[in-house]
Amino acid sequence: MMKFKKGDSVIIISGKDRSKKGKISKVFPKQDLVLIDGLNLRKKHVKPKKSGEKGETVQIAFPISSSNVKLICPKCGQATRVGHKLVAKNKFRVCKKCHQEI
Ligand SMILES: [Zn+2]
Repeated sequence: MMKFKKGDSVIIISGKDRSKKGKISKVFPKQDLVLIDGLNLRKKHVKPKKSGEKGETVQIAFPISSSNVKLICPKCGQATRVGHKLVAKNKFRVCKKCHQEI
């Protein structure tokens, strides 16, 4: 299941943006992907709006696999994996480092 949610601070742990930090702006639970503001940028060609105009190339953020991302715990500030805890049928996320609810 998706370990992350919108607004989480994360660090990328593999690929060209390794060790860069950012904030999750969107999650795609079915595909297990997350979109991080300003990271995993790729060039995208934008078609001209009118004929005769030139198209342009823009850099936009692409979603990446959540397995390439670690959460930065808001409680202890460490990059961590996320655990889950079930209390009275409510599910909580817990930091694997400091064991606090996050
Ligand atoms: Zn923690």
